Amino acid sequence: MRQTKTTKRGRPRGSRNRPKPPVVEAPRPIKQPKTTCPSCGSDERGPYFHKTVQKYSGIAPDGMPYTRVVRRWTICAACGQRRIDRHREFHADEWVGEMPENVATG
Ligand SMILES: [Zn+2]
Repeated sequence: MRQTKTTKRGRPRGSRNRPKPPVVEAPRPIKQPKTTCPSCGSDERGPYFHKTVQKYSGIAPDGMPYTRVVRRWTICAACGQRRIDRHREFHADEWVGEMPENVATG
């Protein structure tokens, strides 16, 4: 008799009902918190006139995973102070590895 039990990695082909790992809802609108001026505290700002995107994955302090760090240049509309707003963005297709379990899906 042939032994079919192996300890090979991976799942047997055609297996059904396999438990799905928890996955974050794929593309979803990216909410960016309002940013404020470090000088005067105003959240009124001019349009972003430049941005850089850094592909960098991690978990933010609030538990949200991110795959990009985006920096946007702007000028405070109240006092004219230039600043760089840093935003974390999550793009599911760029996440490498397992989804973290504590991903907030709200
Ligand atoms: Zn300001």
